[in-house]
Amino acid sequence: MNQEKSHSLFHKAINIIPGGVNSPVRACKSVGREPLFIECAKGCFIFDADGNRYIDYVGSWGPMILGHAHPAVIDAIKTVSELGTSFGAPTALEVEMAERLTEAIPSLEMVRMVNSGTEATMSAIRLARGVTGRDTIIKFDGCYHGHADTLLVEAGSGVATLDIPGSPGVPKSFVRHTLSLPYNDIDAVKQVMSGRGKEIACIIVEPVAGNMGCVLPINGFLETLREETQKHGSLLIFDEVMTGFRVAYGGAQAVYGITPDITCLAKIIGGGLPVGAYGGKRDIMEHIAPQGPVYQAGTLSGNPLAMAAGIAMLKELEKPGFYDDLEKKSRKLSDGLKQAAQDAGIKATFNRVGSMMTMFFTDQPVNSFNDAKTSDLKRFRAYYAGMLENGIYLAPSQFEAGFVSSAHGDKEIEETIAAAADVFKKIKG
Ligand SMILES: *Cc1c(COP(=O)(O)O)cnc(C)c1O
Repeated sequence: MNQEKSHSLFHKAINIIPGGVNSPVRACKSVGREPLFIECAKGCFIFDADGNRYIDYVGSWGPMILGHAHPAVIDAIKTVSELGTSFGAPTALEVEMAERLTEAIPSLEMVRMVNSGTEATMSAIRLARGVTGRDTIIKFDGCYHGHADTLLVEAGSGVATLDIPGSPGVPKSFVRHTLSLPYNDIDAVKQVMSGRGKEIACIIVEPVAGNMGCVLPINGFLETLREETQKHGSLLIFDEVMTGFRVAYGGAQAVYGITPDITCLAKIIGGGLPVGAYGGKRDIMEHIAPQGPVYQAGTLSGNPLAMAAGIAMLKELEKPGFYDDLEKKSRKLSDGLKQAAQDAGIKATFNRVGSMMTMFFTDQPVNSFNDAKTSDLKRFRAYYAGMLENGIYLAPSQFEAGFVSSAHGDKEIEETIAAAADVFKKIKG
């Protein structure tokens, strides 16, 4: 496969952009490769600078649930952009977005738009601290909540992939207020809360983790978080940046029936434009400026292009049968891969909720970051390389989720399974 143009672009980029990329996970360092530069994408296909076509399971790391360049989203952006790209003043589109979000997720009584998932979680933590008057927060190993200082502790995503324990530049005095516990460890949560519950402003969690690969909450885990936070006057924050509108229209909280105090959103709600949001109970959200004293602002927040793209996407997701159809495709892919792995004698653990999934190259169940780390990373690397060679574009890390979109057809899913079967045979040896 000719990837010369990508190679020469990367050569230029690496001199003037750190690592040649604007976000670490894109660099493909952990799989020992250079990134592909993307020219365009349509539906479930993505095309690199050399014109190679791949079936895409990255979906821009989550947002592209309709596939790429969906006509409804593109039309909305075109129409709205003619009217001006930013006003720094309220618009009807922001009201419509807030209405749609609060209708979709009943725990959101009020919502504030921001520009990224990082901003959403950072602001939610500030809000939780402001409301409770407490400084300490609890997170979980392998969960990624963006790159804000207080949250870069035992984090997932690129931090996990590059095996960075923390980050230089984050003051120890900040991190002192962040406790990181093993995901799904109910006893650890109970123990810390019984000893230090009064200090804890909030527990923040990915209700289905996606940033150490896809890891599901075990029975009772989310329930315990809800009970313990309630008991000790702490707030429960669901970081649904990845799971919101992905695992169900109402997010993971709809799937598992747990009501958090604050929810963070991003990715899908922007239709592929930069966006984030956080919201929750009215009496909590009323602490946000200018209604309350907790300050949070943004020049481009609620940007009309992002609102229009997000609204257009949400309208498609509301159509009857959308998530049933996506579930069918996702199950077909997951079942097919599982069978192919089994046939080839490859040991793998499949975790999936709806269209979000990870195949871990381990024979153990994966319920935590430590479990995920039992995966054979050399084998993952070989699998990744083989799949790419066969025209399948996967996230370049064992510790990431893959996404199916509504644009993936039976034909492409079958092509993917056949490609995997071929690769499994080759990497078995
Ligand atoms: C992607 C992600 C973030 C960060 O969002 P950005 O828009 O990249 O800042 C935060 N939390 C979760 C769960 C994510 O998946």
